[in-house]
Amino acid sequence: MKILLVEDELEFAETLRGVLEREHFVVDHVDRLALAREAARSKSYELVLLDRTLPDGDGLSLVPSLRADHPGLPIIVLSARGEVFDRVAGLDEGADDYLVKPFALDEMFARIRAVRRRPPELGAEHIRVASLVFDVANDEASVEGVRLDLARRELRVLATLVKRRGRTVLRESLEEAAFGFDDQVQSNTLDSHISRLRRKLAEAGAGIEIHAIRGVGYLLRASL
Ligand code: CA
Repeated sequence: MKILLVEDELEFAETLRGVLEREHFVVDHVDRLALAREAARSKSYELVLLDRTLPDGDGLSLVPSLRADHPGLPIIVLSARGEVFDRVAGLDEGADDYLVKPFALDEMFARIRAVRRRPPELGAEHIRVASLVFDVANDEASVEGVRLDLARRELRVLATLVKRRGRTVLRESLEEAAFGFDDQVQSNTLDSHISRLRRKLAEAGAGIEIHAIRGVGYLLRASL
């Protein structure tokens, strides 16, 4: 998971970076609004931690454009301004959460976990991974404009993997997404869906791999 950290108090930023990296997050740190805007344009992040009082303006002013460009991107505002008015302003601008400084690191991680549990692409219409484009609203997958011919369960498995691309998705979650309560699910049913999905993706030239994490689940990512 890659995080954009926007914070001008360098010592605090380094502390945050240290603890986040220990939890296996990848952190890009910037200390100005302008740099944050630039970074968000050129790189892709899965979370933004955003200070408010920055040398070139209020961090909140960045939220509407971040929202517009990356609808599903979770934004947590970090601020010493903890008045109700300020919190409401932060959430009104479209931030997902608001942490008042000083905060306990445990609380920060809890908030990060909470925003990550939400559907990552809420509001996003298309998710692109390598050459694959997944149309969330219409539940269709295509490569170079050509719609993939996928069976319903293959589509459900793909949708679940694409929405959580780059992360391991548990077998149970995939089975839950693809099968109803009453379906008889053999232990290898999911794997045969995955095999067919892999073959179809490869034939279409999607540039994607579905990596098996033995006994745990699967992970979808762009192939190298
Ligand atoms: Ca500040």
